[in-house]
Amino acid sequence: MKQSIRLKLFLSHVFAVLLVSGSIGTYFYGSAAESLMDGLKERLQATAALISQTIDADTLRSLLTASDVSQLAYVDTLQKLRAFRRMNPDIAFLYVMRQEGEKILFVVDSDETEKQALPGTEYPQQLPSLVKGFTGVSVDTEILADEWGSFLSGYAPIKNSRGEFLVGVDMRADKVYTKSRNLRISGLCSLIASIVLAFLFAKYLAARFTGPIRLAIDRCTAIAAGKLDEQILLRTNDELDQLLVAFNEMSATLSLAELKKHEAFTALRRSKDELEIRVKQRTSDLSEVNNKLSHEIAQRIIAQHALQEAATIDPLTRLFNRRAMMERFEHEISRSQRNQVPFTVLAIDLDHFKSINDTKGHDAGDSILVETGVRMKSMLRSQDAIARWGGEEFVILLPETELCRGRLVAEKIRRRIAVAPFFSNGEEIEVTASFGVAEFSQESEIDQVLKAADDAVYAAKKKGRNRIEIEQGRSCAEGIS
Ligand code: GH3
Ligand code: MG
Ligand code: MG
Repeated sequence: MKQSIRLKLFLSHVFAVLLVSGSIGTYFYGSAAESLMDGLKERLQATAALISQTIDADTLRSLLTASDVSQLAYVDTLQKLRAFRRMNPDIAFLYVMRQEGEKILFVVDSDETEKQALPGTEYPQQLPSLVKGFTGVSVDTEILADEWGSFLSGYAPIKNSRGEFLVGVDMRADKVYTKSRNLRISGLCSLIASIVLAFLFAKYLAARFTGPIRLAIDRCTAIAAGKLDEQILLRTNDELDQLLVAFNEMSATLSLAELKKHEAFTALRRSKDELEIRVKQRTSDLSEVNNKLSHEIAQRIIAQHALQEAATIDPLTRLFNRRAMMERFEHEISRSQRNQVPFTVLAIDLDHFKSINDTKGHDAGDSILVETGVRMKSMLRSQDAIARWGGEEFVILLPETELCRGRLVAEKIRRRIAVAPFFSNGEEIEVTASFGVAEFSQESEIDQVLKAADDAVYAAKKKGRNRIEIEQGRSCAEGIS
């Protein structure tokens, strides 16, 4: 079962106070009651002993029955007892008794009412203190309360009785009884008062002890919830103060640590923001530089392409120039040697071009050069290559083509130029060209092949122009040409 410290403290204080006050109350009650009884008993013993010595047993031996009341000894003894009783108002009854075997019989009774016991009347009770009174002074152990009131009895053997007679004294014990009862009631009242006081005291102590602990718990809860700046102002002036002071110190330390953490966090965030701004700035700068570089690279690539084109392309006709064509020859030579397949070179020279220039103008000459390139290119395969060799001269490379097949291609091109007139400024211009055809085989040199083709052009010019001649020393079948 779960019990709070407050309840435990409360219960322990209540039990402690009850134990102490109960023990002290019981002790005082016991000792007060005992001293009251002891006083009464001492008085009884003294009174019984005193009276017993004023009566002589020898005078009583003849008093045996009720009829003996007239005897002088009876009357004398009765008067003596009654005189004693009247002198001492605390004494209720005085009597003389005889022991006869197992029986105890009245001899003289001082009672002045009709209940007076006459000689020979048997006393029904065999109380131990009464029996003991025949041989020595004795007193009842407890007060007897009956219809006549409360009494304590004392007994003493009568002088010369030799254990046969005794005198009995019934002392009124009402006062002692009342005092004893009052003592019990006041003891009970003080016990109840002790319980109430113990209850209040324990409640106060428990509250005083657990109050600071409760405060400390509340502070702990507040600290856990993040409230670090509150202090416990309560002072108990005991060991709990150390706990509260320690709590306040812990709270202050935590508060300081939280403040420092907050400051560090703020500084960290600020530097992070600054860093982000710098990174953004740097990224933007880099991006700008990157764009500039990209633009520059693009410009350079364009310029490089332009340079490359200028180095390899003829600007007027957009055909390969001599240098580019020489590279193609080198490439084709190695391929031809590797595959052992010949290729053919066509050399073309426009006829009487000087006179076209002279009669139609230089621009017309230029446009004829351009269109001639277009017409020739339209007759070629994708793997063939054509170049402006210089002025009005062209060279065509026909890969994997032997001489006579190349001659057929030259014939087609010749016709393509010669059949349809050219136009410049709305004027028709007749254009023809002379062709030289030479083949590159395994043992050839490209310069020799080019010269052979050029020689063949020269031969065609000589033979009347607008015609095709193959390299010297070679021939093609009639059907093919
Ligand atoms: P042939 O039939 O013997 O070849 O006579 P031809 O007039 O064609 O030969 P020639 O070598 O005497 O003349 C070549 C002419 O080509 C000279 C020149 O004015 C012209 N020519 C060379 N390059 C260009 C050019 O780029 N544009 C123009 N319009 N004419 C050019
Ligand atoms: Mg020429
Ligand atoms: Mg010419």
